[in-house]
Amino acid sequence: MQFETSFPRRATRQIMVGGVPVGGGAPITVQSMTVTKTADVDGTLQQIYALAAAGCDIVRCTCNEAEAAEGLARIVPRSPIPIIADIHNNHRMALAALEAGVQGLRLNPGNIRRPEHIKAVAAECRDRGVSIRIGVNGGSLDESLYAKYGGKVTPEAMVESALMELAYFREVDFELVKISVKASNVPLMIEAYRQLADVTDHPLHLGVTEAGPPPAGLLKATAGIATLLAEGIGDTIRYSLTADPVEEVRAGRQLLEAMGLRARKNVDLIACPSCGRAEIDVIDVARRAMEAFGDREIPLQIAVMGCVVNGPGEARDADLGIAAGNKRGHLFVKGRNVAVVPEDRMVEELVAWAELIHTEGVDAALARADVAVAEREARKDRARLLEEQGDDANASEARVDLIRRNLGG
Ligand code: SF4
Repeated sequence: MQFETSFPRRATRQIMVGGVPVGGGAPITVQSMTVTKTADVDGTLQQIYALAAAGCDIVRCTCNEAEAAEGLARIVPRSPIPIIADIHNNHRMALAALEAGVQGLRLNPGNIRRPEHIKAVAAECRDRGVSIRIGVNGGSLDESLYAKYGGKVTPEAMVESALMELAYFREVDFELVKISVKASNVPLMIEAYRQLADVTDHPLHLGVTEAGPPPAGLLKATAGIATLLAEGIGDTIRYSLTADPVEEVRAGRQLLEAMGLRARKNVDLIACPSCGRAEIDVIDVARRAMEAFGDREIPLQIAVMGCVVNGPGEARDADLGIAAGNKRGHLFVKGRNVAVVPEDRMVEELVAWAELIHTEGVDAALARADVAVAEREARKDRARLLEEQGDDANASEARVDLIRRNLGG
């Protein structure tokens, strides 16, 4: 069962990035960035397809040289998702990317500084209906702001940088804007977004920049992004990981799904932590199940449980699960035993049942099962385990007795 989210979203205006809405109550989108040379058209498209398959909604490609802009002209028509060109110091690259047909630009106000260049790009975007992300980065703040705030990167300086850029855009009547104020320092990033959310209704793109390799990078990015999402702040997100960008997309989707902010797309695999009762190597079976499901679009919650004594009960809310007992796997659907399979076929059977439930539904799967036989077999294996291990398989009570005796209690 998926509990409905209770995080009210901050009201923002909506902009379009190609055909994808951002803000204004639209589903929160997941972004990533290609790591190929944009001039390498086939390599970049291959990566974009992999990202889209993993659930990426919008992808960014660098446009740092003429060859990259030419690559974009060939990539954009074949991309399954909208493309944002990442612009560094040269506003002419922004204009070239627009010629290539990109659906969005990302400008760093700390890099392109001349107002006439900023306004020329914004005016061109206005005429073409292309959106811009104002991408403030704590690591590359405008020198004048750096000086104004005592040589320190502060949330106030980052917000001011974004608002200065927005003011230039408004001079040429350009409003198709989303904003980010990323930093690698999580508390700084959180505070900058909070302050920004108080002063603008433009949609916000969340991220912790240079979060680093997983697992620390995942934790940092999640700490920043999830905190803000729980406060209703954020319309689109990116995990900036030092890893395959597909990992960024998976992390982004999983965070949104875990918070109830996006409908489940792939399997949500839950597993018990294992304990003295476990009849299998739960970590290994869970890992193999994760690999077997991969990015398959089966939006079910599936449980891998170490024993049939407690597994089906502890995971009774899962759509499907498997619990080990007496060298056999006990499959259960919504807490009801449906089949018994050999231990070495647990993962294959789990996948087959997941496909059955996904295509035909829970009731059809239950109708096909011989529930009476499966329950009888589960009862037998449960009884055998209880007989072998007793009620206290983890020896907790024996340890408590020992502690009490040693302490003279
Ligand atoms: S009692 Fe069974 S299901 Fe629960 S943690 Fe131990 S092995 Fe896993």
